Amino acid sequence: MGHTAPRATVLLNGAPATQASADGWFVIGFDRDAPPPALITVETPDGSANHQATIAPGTFDIQRIDGLAQDQVAPSDPALLARIAAEGQRKAVGFASRIDADYFRTGFIWPVQATRRSSSFGGQRILNGEPKRPHYGVDLAAPVGTPVVAPAAGVVSFAETGLHFEGGLILIDHGQGLITAYLHLSRIDVAAGQAVAQGQRIGAVGQEGRATGPHLCWRMKWRDQNLDPSLLVGLMAGKPQPHA
Ligand SMILES: [Zn+2]
Repeated sequence: MGHTAPRATVLLNGAPATQASADGWFVIGFDRDAPPPALITVETPDGSANHQATIAPGTFDIQRIDGLAQDQVAPSDPALLARIAAEGQRKAVGFASRIDADYFRTGFIWPVQATRRSSSFGGQRILNGEPKRPHYGVDLAAPVGTPVVAPAAGVVSFAETGLHFEGGLILIDHGQGLITAYLHLSRIDVAAGQAVAQGQRIGAVGQEGRATGPHLCWRMKWRDQNLDPSLLVGLMAGKPQPHA
């Protein structure tokens, strides 16, 4: 997260990445295997400035989960595949939400009072013995019905129950393409288009969809990059500085 001149253009490694908000806040994100060098440039009508960041490599575990229903690992039924594809298209609309806001600037709180972190971001998944995509979420174990709150303000861009893989799923747009996701919910208390405040209850923990026990799978994307949401807990963008 950074602060610069209002509406400055922000470039990442020379390519336009985002635009600062009306108050000058911006956010950019780096995926699991992002290479170390990151040149961040802000451009304004008055000039430009560079910041060279170095992205440290993460360490990721191997996560084996057995005993999943086979249609949760390698679905083959044509009707189910059609349903999964339709759900994917509706989710894509939610992930494509781009509100003009900078709600991320407050930082994030934990969305649930978890009993433990049952699985970390980025682990290599082996489901029923089949290597799968890395796990792009943080799994927070908690009993079914435990309240889930919005960890930062935003606008709900998707809210549905009964999805094949996710069960109850909520997406929240925090501005500039930073979107958080809440999976396996047993209850949903918000609707798409609704504004939510930090700490506001949005639903309840469940074990719907591809889950072997009650937990919240919490995910975060910045545009097409998968981020570890736990890294933003307790982090604040800081006070606005007078810009030169
Ligand atoms: Zn998960």
